[in-house]
Amino acid sequence: MTGKESARLIETLKEIVGSGGFREGADIESKNYQDAMGARSVPPLLLLRPNSTQQVSDILKLCHAAKQPIAPQGGMTGLVSAAAPLEGEISLSFERMKKVLEVDPFTSSMTVEAGVELQTIQEQADAHELLFPLDLGARGSCTIGGNLSTNAGGNRVIRYGMTRDLVVGLEAVLADGTIINGLHKLRKNNTGYDLKQLFIGSEGTLGIITRAVLKLSPKPSSQVVAMCGVNSFEQVANLLVHVQAGLGANLSAFEVIWNNTYKLIDEHVSHATVPMTDNYGFYVLIESMGSHAEKDSDLFIDVLSQASEGKLIEEVILADSDTKIKNLWTVRDAAAEIYPGVGYMHTYDVSLNVDDMGYFGDEVEKRLRAVWPQAILGLFGHIGDGNVHIIIHVGPQTRSFHLQIDEIIYGLIQELHGAVSAEHGIGLMKKQFLPYSKSEPEIALMKALKQTMDPRGILNPGRVF
Ligand code: ZN
Repeated sequence: MTGKESARLIETLKEIVGSGGFREGADIESKNYQDAMGARSVPPLLLLRPNSTQQVSDILKLCHAAKQPIAPQGGMTGLVSAAAPLEGEISLSFERMKKVLEVDPFTSSMTVEAGVELQTIQEQADAHELLFPLDLGARGSCTIGGNLSTNAGGNRVIRYGMTRDLVVGLEAVLADGTIINGLHKLRKNNTGYDLKQLFIGSEGTLGIITRAVLKLSPKPSSQVVAMCGVNSFEQVANLLVHVQAGLGANLSAFEVIWNNTYKLIDEHVSHATVPMTDNYGFYVLIESMGSHAEKDSDLFIDVLSQASEGKLIEEVILADSDTKIKNLWTVRDAAAEIYPGVGYMHTYDVSLNVDDMGYFGDEVEKRLRAVWPQAILGLFGHIGDGNVHIIIHVGPQTRSFHLQIDEIIYGLIQELHGAVSAEHGIGLMKKQFLPYSKSEPEIALMKALKQTMDPRGILNPGRVF
């Protein structure tokens, strides 16, 4: 594009969205271009804020014709540096598309626009005595469009699945402006390819999600939580099998904090009070949710007593009041709040077979310490889903050693046939490590899909691969 053509394109795009529908120059707030990972802070050529699917379609049609790259964005809380614009890109924000269109109790579904914040969806479901089970730390600022395009995970995947599993219908716009309207409420729909799955988890590279029909669940009326001190990872793995069998569908979280993280929480996160001594190898938070308070609580206590008798756990702290439950969850959530006390820490999000995790934790520490004997590290995560997070600080130069640390973590993941991303996506940060978890034919098929759906490469270019 010549400078003149580019200026003309920008004027036409502004006309499409009208006066409240764009920002440019110094009017673009940094929240619309600052990368949550600190990788870059480049204002886009133009920030578009469409208020309808038709406007998104009109925008893409023009950008497709002009080969103008577009970076769609949600709440900008992603952790793989995918949404912040690159030099010369136009950003597309959904901050004016945040309507909850319908809550339907008969199909247990909610129809929303892409810009609705996750917390609003949770609250709307709750007001209808229903549950939207997706939950993550950024709930107050992340949007459902971002959750969908990254296939976000979180704390209750063990029971309800990833975002992908919480969608019934989807509307998306293709690179050339074609609207794919799959906004139905049919739970059973085997009419050929499940096209919505192309847009979920593809990080805005195959199409732009504009609206969704979400699957709601009955709202549980009982909640019991316990934290267990456990000595070895072998016991943790056996405990998982035991509670899955014992609690069945009531099991709603199985979160594990390694001893190293537990000590860091105790030392650095003042608002979290750890419930027991720090001499156990692992701390397991188990949650049960159901619909018969008394029965559920009895069953929970029963299952944990058996675990104690079977020498799977050393100590249990049971939380049966809202305050106690909140305290245990605060300790678990504190694992993500350690870095201000320690200094900058790299955060990793990987998945593995559960029976490899004990070895993985030991080996990460061994390989890091071989290079940085003073390294500070912590492991924790959604072990019921095979998902572990690692936080690492190797000294004041931690940022400059990023790639070396990546190589240690992802190299080990490759050896164990794990995934270099479990719930955060690939974005720009992990793309060079994609081949550690995907074979050449798989990546070739991904590229063929990209070529078919976005032949001019205008949708979030350079992300994923
Ligand atoms: Zn997580």
